[in-house]
Amino acid sequence: MSTIDLRTEIPGPLSMRWAERRQSAVPRGAQSTAPVFIARAEGAVLHDVDGNSFLDFAGGIGCMNVGHCAPAVRDAAQEQLARFTHLCFAVTPYDAYVRLAEELNRRTPGSFPKKTFLVNSGVEAVENAVKIARSYTGRPAVIAFEDAFHGRTLLGMSLTSKVHPYKESFGPFAPEIYRIPYAYCYRCSYSLTYPTCEIRCAQALEDVFFRRSVEPGTVAAVIVEPVLGEGGFVAPPREFFGVLREVCTRHGILLIVDEVQTGFGRTGTLFACEQLGIEPDLIVSGKSIAAGLPLAAVTGRAEVMDAPGPGGLGGTYVGNPVACEAALAVLRMFDEEQLVARAVQIGDWVSRRTREWEREFPLVGDIRGRGAMRAFELVRDRRTRAPAKEETEAVIKYCWQHGLIILPAGTYGNVIRLLVPLVITDEQLDEGFSVLEDALALVSAPAAVAT
Ligand SMILES: *Cc1c(COP(=O)(O)O)cnc(C)c1O
Repeated sequence: MSTIDLRTEIPGPLSMRWAERRQSAVPRGAQSTAPVFIARAEGAVLHDVDGNSFLDFAGGIGCMNVGHCAPAVRDAAQEQLARFTHLCFAVTPYDAYVRLAEELNRRTPGSFPKKTFLVNSGVEAVENAVKIARSYTGRPAVIAFEDAFHGRTLLGMSLTSKVHPYKESFGPFAPEIYRIPYAYCYRCSYSLTYPTCEIRCAQALEDVFFRRSVEPGTVAAVIVEPVLGEGGFVAPPREFFGVLREVCTRHGILLIVDEVQTGFGRTGTLFACEQLGIEPDLIVSGKSIAAGLPLAAVTGRAEVMDAPGPGGLGGTYVGNPVACEAALAVLRMFDEEQLVARAVQIGDWVSRRTREWEREFPLVGDIRGRGAMRAFELVRDRRTRAPAKEETEAVIKYCWQHGLIILPAGTYGNVIRLLVPLVITDEQLDEGFSVLEDALALVSAPAAVAT
């Protein structure tokens, strides 16, 4: 039995009517990938206001690893909603916050005492990680990477590398941010090839960057994604992170790992850095932490986390009790339903399914990722690797018109990424991939984009 069930043109008449009202009520800057208004969702399925059903390969941008409306999470949140919705942890504390902090301290990598501070969003966690790192080290500078994404506030977009649409027209940006190339091997900044490159990109930090650009004694932190999220699901060789860890330790620089998109099982371990053989000083998590309720966290070395004085960290809604109970239910669900193992299975399934893709679809230049965090980089020409941005847009549009919600990524907008809820079934994966393959076949055909 198929999940996708389309009963009208897509978008349907009711979605069209809402789109009109949206156009006059909401600024155009707040854009959507697919113009279908959703009425309800469960697992990996979205039902729109016109009665059409879609498969969801986007999961609200990687927030729904446990699936939409998971009953255990919904019940935990509803029970808390009935007890109290908000007190503000800075006024009177509550135990859900403490229990969640203990769980995150225990489950994040790093065999040292840890503490956790909770906030509302990924970017707020990034901002607080930087505040904490500056407070602990007494240093101003932060090193971030090319193709990085760390959010949309002033500091977040300053750390972010993709110019359009995240930075264009929004400057000036926060000072004391320096940028070095990421290990984006498919588009190496040094035109080298792994492994003969000997990870030049990371080695350059010590060999070049600390001589030419910034004095290491002024650097508070290096912030890095274990796999680029918005930057296109680029998964560097493990040694890249080993070198970063070594250089940071040598100079007393803190290593902040941004696991907002890679965390909560996405890559086949609860946190991606478990696979990288490094212990970060601070870990930033968010997105799938509370199944879509606004929550994010900074977890790190206890002595680092304690650097800001009493009252130095806070916010009105931070660590909301309903979101905390949802997050605790998410973690129980990971244990009970072995969702981390399921992420590995999904990754293997995708590898099998896409084995012939590079032969079948000339458009597909690179297939990559870790665990269930998979992506396909589309190119016009395999030799020049010219990014196929319009073709990527055409694939995504074909998909939603045929019942599959799927997202782009990448600095060039030419990557298609999978952020499927981990509760998706193999039958649903199969159905979604059939739509995606139809789209790739159609768009790969010459002149398809022009029409
Ligand atoms: C989404 C994301 C953020 C920002 O999170 P928000 O909740 O949107 O503020 C930060 N870092 C990474 C890696 C992300 O994917």
